[in-house]
Parts: sequence; structure tokens; C-alpha cells
Amino acid sequence: MNEMNRLIIATGNTHKTEEISKLLGSIFKPIEDLQSYPEIGEIDEIGNTFEENAELKAIEVGKLLGNSAMILSDDSGLEVDALNGAPGVRSARFSGENADDSSNRKKLLDELEGIGAQGERRVARFRCVMVLARGDQKLAVFNGVVEGKIADKEKGDGGFGYDSLFIPQDYDKTFAELPSHTKNSISHRANALAAFKTWLLDSDYAK
Ligand code: IMP
Repeated sequence: MNEMNRLIIATGNTHKTEEISKLLGSIFKPIEDLQSYPEIGEIDEIGNTFEENAELKAIEVGKLLGNSAMILSDDSGLEVDALNGAPGVRSARFSGENADDSSNRKKLLDELEGIGAQGERRVARFRCVMVLARGDQKLAVFNGVVEGKIADKEKGDGGFGYDSLFIPQDYDKTFAELPSHTKNSISHRANALAAFKTWLLDSDYAK
């Protein structure tokens, strides 16, 4: 087997690895994540943009593993127009040091209410940036977006993060109310992965 067909996802989140494996399992064998490399600890996301953070993670892991595999990393978050793009790269820790999904959602609703943002002013999007690297080389960047708006209150039990507040364009339900296969077919991550797959099929790696 061509050693370049090894793909390591720079995440410890098994859900992400499964989602990516479903789409790319026929091209890369094996697909592993950082669960297989416990010696690589947490990598601090200190960048100012999604791309900087994704690159930090990909290159850090690439340097540690050398040229023996391709590394794919991602960074994602929610951008709300009326908040000038916040929470953005700070999506996971929007409400402070001890932030969790629930306190982040509360802060988001409070902030939008504080500035009286209704209707069109609740326009938002999830963004995902993926970086592909080998060793310390960045090979490519892939962007994925899903447009939508922020609901007036939380709705639905599925998903995670801001899902129960996000209504994707052309739907009238939040990501937390929609079936997971619907979310997974239109999400920011799905779109970034689709861009990655198109790039791959055009490159020598899939041959
Ligand atoms: P990360 O890219 O896994 O570091 O995600 C950063 C943060 O963005 C998460 O903690 C969530 O708050 C938010 N986020 C990213 N993707 C999603 C999603 O698909 N649904 C809901 N929240 C998300």
C-alpha cells in the first residue's frame, strides 16, 4: 500500500473521524485520529482565524509524525453578522473560561437581545476550515460554510454546540431538530470535506 494513503485526522473527537471516514474511506486506508497517538497532547488553538488554528494543529502533528502520512485538521465555529462575526474562533469558549455549550448559547441569545437584533439581523453561518499537511508542509486549505439564522429560542434535542439555535437557510427547523443525516449533508464540515474530496480526486493521491 502507498504510504501516502494513510490519513490522520488531527482530532481526538471520534465523531469527526467517523464522519470523515464515511466520505473518504475508499481513498485512504487507514484513517486514524489522535486517539491512536496519545503522546500528542492537546494543541492550543491560539490563532486569530479558523485557518490559523487548523494550520497550527495540522503542522504540529505533521512535524511529530514526519512524512509517513497526510494530516487533515479542522477548525470551525459560528459567525453572527449582528455581532461582527462573533463568536467566530472563540465559539467554544464564548462565555468565558468555564464555558460549556449551554452557557455559550445563553450568552449568544442575551447578546442578540441586548442589541435588539431581530429578523434579518439574526443572519449567521457556521464555517469550517480544513488544512491538509504532510510533515511541516501545508498542502491545501478547504473551506465549508452553511448559511442560516439564529432562532429566538432553543429548539430541539439533537446535535451539540449551537445546533439548537441555528436554522439553516431554506429550512424552518434548527440543526438540533433536523435528522442528523440532513445536517451531515448540508453542514459546513460536509462542504469542506466535499471540497477536499474534489481536490483529492484531481490529485495523484487517489490514484
Ligand atoms: P471545533 O472546530 O470542534 O473546535 O468547534 C468549535 C466550536 O464551534 C464548538 O465548540 C461549537 O461551539 C461550535 N461548532 C462547530 N461546529 C458546530 C456544529 O456543527 N454545530 C454546533 N456548534 C458547532
